[in-house]
Amino acid sequence: MAHPKRKTSKSRRDKRRSHHAISDVTLAKCSNCGELHRYHHACSECGHYRGRQVTKAAN
Ligand SMILES: [Zn+2]
Repeated sequence: MAHPKRKTSKSRRDKRRSHHAISDVTLAKCSNCGELHRYHHACSECGHYRGRQVTKAAN
C-alpha cells in the first residue's frame, strides 16, 4: 500500500490546518419582518423566503 516516507512535521501539519477554521455565518435582513436570517434560508421569525411564506411562522 502507498505509504508516506517521512513523518509530517508539527509545522507542516499545523500549516495545513491553518485553513480549517469555521467562519461566521453571513446574516441577511428579512424583507418581510426585518429580522436577521441566514442567506438561502427561510426566516426563522416569520417563515418567509424571497418574499413568500414557505414555512409556518415560529410564533
Ligand atoms: Zn421574517
